[in-house]
Amino acid sequence: MSKMSARQSAIQAITTYNPDSTGFSYRDVKPTELFGCNVFNDKVMRERLPKAVYRSLVKTIRYGETLDPAIADTVAAVMKDWAIEHGATHYTHIFYPLTGQTAEKHDTFLKPDGSGGVIAEFSGSMLIRGEADGSSFPSGGLRSTFEARGYTAWDVTSPAYLQEGPNCIVLCIPTMFLSWTGVVLDKKTPMLRSGQALNHEARRVLDLFNVHTELPVVAYAGLEQEYFLIDNNYTFAREDLLVAGRTLFGARPAKGQEFSDQYFGVIPQRVLSFMMETERYLYKLGVPVSTRHNEVAPGQYEIAPFFEQANVAVDHNHMIMAALRNVAKRHGLKCLLHEKPFNCINGSGKHLNYSVGNAELGSLFDPGDTPHANAKFLVFVCALVRAVHKYGGLLRATVASASNDHRLGANEAPPAIMSIFLGDQLTEVLAAFRSGHLEQAQSGTKKTMMDLGVDTLPNLPRDPGDRNRTSPIAFVGNRFEFRALGSSQSAADSITALNAVMADSLGFAADWLEREIKEGKSFNDALQSFITHVMEEHSAVIFNGDGYSEVWQKEAVRRGLPDLHSAPEAIPVLESPEVMDLYVRLGIMNQAEVKARAEIYLEQYCKTINTEAALTMRIARTKIFPAGLSYLNQLASAAQALRSLNREAETETLDQVNNGLVQLKKHTDELEGIVSSVAGEESFEKRAARCCQEILPAMARVRETADGLEGIIPEDLWSLPTYQEMLFNK
Ligand code: ADP
Ligand code: MG
Repeated sequence: MSKMSARQSAIQAITTYNPDSTGFSYRDVKPTELFGCNVFNDKVMRERLPKAVYRSLVKTIRYGETLDPAIADTVAAVMKDWAIEHGATHYTHIFYPLTGQTAEKHDTFLKPDGSGGVIAEFSGSMLIRGEADGSSFPSGGLRSTFEARGYTAWDVTSPAYLQEGPNCIVLCIPTMFLSWTGVVLDKKTPMLRSGQALNHEARRVLDLFNVHTELPVVAYAGLEQEYFLIDNNYTFAREDLLVAGRTLFGARPAKGQEFSDQYFGVIPQRVLSFMMETERYLYKLGVPVSTRHNEVAPGQYEIAPFFEQANVAVDHNHMIMAALRNVAKRHGLKCLLHEKPFNCINGSGKHLNYSVGNAELGSLFDPGDTPHANAKFLVFVCALVRAVHKYGGLLRATVASASNDHRLGANEAPPAIMSIFLGDQLTEVLAAFRSGHLEQAQSGTKKTMMDLGVDTLPNLPRDPGDRNRTSPIAFVGNRFEFRALGSSQSAADSITALNAVMADSLGFAADWLEREIKEGKSFNDALQSFITHVMEEHSAVIFNGDGYSEVWQKEAVRRGLPDLHSAPEAIPVLESPEVMDLYVRLGIMNQAEVKARAEIYLEQYCKTINTEAALTMRIARTKIFPAGLSYLNQLASAAQALRSLNREAETETLDQVNNGLVQLKKHTDELEGIVSSVAGEESFEKRAARCCQEILPAMARVRETADGLEGIIPEDLWSLPTYQEMLFNK
């Protein structure tokens, strides 16, 4: 029997797919009962833990108090019993190393009892702290292999849960990851610390407004996740998708997204069936997924949960990404989380909806209904305006990666320049502070404004009105949407940065107000002078127009905003004196830890480009060149046959293919030369810059030639599945 091609397998999978094969229905189990059934959540803890232990634990989870180590043994025992009752055999500390991935090492609960049997054991110390030989994780020189031991430490604020596999159930405990000497090696620890800084500074501002809250002020995040789905069979014929997660070759399909017929279109059956199963799995894990729809590009979709406390939202986003990947396989699909799997159509992002507040206060980015609330709102908005203006480069750096570079500034995602969209009304109100014409602003836009009684403060719009999709940081009524994150990235770095820059600006606001009040100003006057100051110094970062336009690029540069096109330009911002100072001052990371991050991210950038370059050469030489050569052979023998019949042969195609092959060989060899020359660079910074400036263009030249050949070489000789097939066969 001849081997089926990827194409044939895909077609078979598509035509024989049975959407009912998953065999579950919400008629049997109500989603309300299912939700959170695999989570060691508040309900389970309240029911099972002794009252005093429960109360103590809640204090840590809800009020941020230090964990009492004395309760650890009891919590561990109860957690273990609960997990084992639910079929768990193993437990793992889940952590988030600087690779951006989720890491886990499973251990069994079982321990030899000394007389040939086993007992289940899980002590407080096993819950609180785990040992993870971290020598294989990137550490940016923070820890050499001879002192490779790292440890994981329980993050009490993110609930433990049961991960269900086809034949295993594992208790997962979210943790931080540090070196034995206490050096931060992960993405969670700085995020938690930045949250503490934010709470501290936000409370100082709230105190001045006489607003008191028992709960800590926290960051909330709602993470919209975009992804692609294609038939899994295609990936076996595409090393680029399999290894790099994106296509390195592929001619533009006859139809792309130009008809706008995909966005919010009817969800294909197989995809919907996959979504239902993914969501069911996530419900059980207490992930509050709420929205699903077709995205703009063919084969592209989105899933979004309700917003949650940022730390939990990030953990849940990692769980969402894992679930998408795993469940897709069961439906014969491949989930691509890469930022740019296909040229010529949109790539995928992850929108971070960000707000600050708590259950008592609501969102502090919500204007509110009273003059008092409105004034508070303005201070928080101004804090962010100042923060993005001062630290735009840092925010840009947190979304910098080889894969996200394909989107940012490519007219499908926000530009690489960080600016804020506030909407015309809010901008006008704030601008009025600067010009000193408060009354004018008030009467000028009266109809869209709410009533506000404080003498010096104008009315405030409730909603920004229009949604600006071209802005990287857009005000959306009660939150800001940071839209520059890449689909495959962890949101932790961006949240850490947002918390840090907000903390910095809120601290600045508190200092300002305290000082002016001390100098004898009224609270209102102090507020007004603070807002005026922010507008005078930082309004350059507010931009409500079309972020995709060339005019803005020029205007932004004129305004002095950093325009960091590529990751190698953006990542070093992490090491700038301002960012170092910010992170060190707020107790988020020390200098060595920040420096290590910059180095690791540059190294990852280089490795990604190098892998892609190696794949480009391999595919060009082993798949595309031979296909071209076969066709050339066919053409040559056809020409010869015709000539032997004294007929004139068509040789233009032959020349075209031959030229294509000559070019392909030349460009591939050139690419190889450049790759080895770049490998000789000492520093990652230099290497990364050359990856961007030399290797990527050289890869593009190989691709251009190959894509040209795809348009003339017969389909049966072309082994790479085409864009048309991958994107439209569902
Ligand atoms: P859109 O696509 O229009 O931006 P979605 O409904 O897809 O809207 O996503 C909006 C996201 O913002 C959801 O995750 C939602 O829970 C979240 N969100 C809503 N309010 C807040 C808030 N105050 N803070 C943070 N996130 C929020
Ligand atoms: Mg959105």
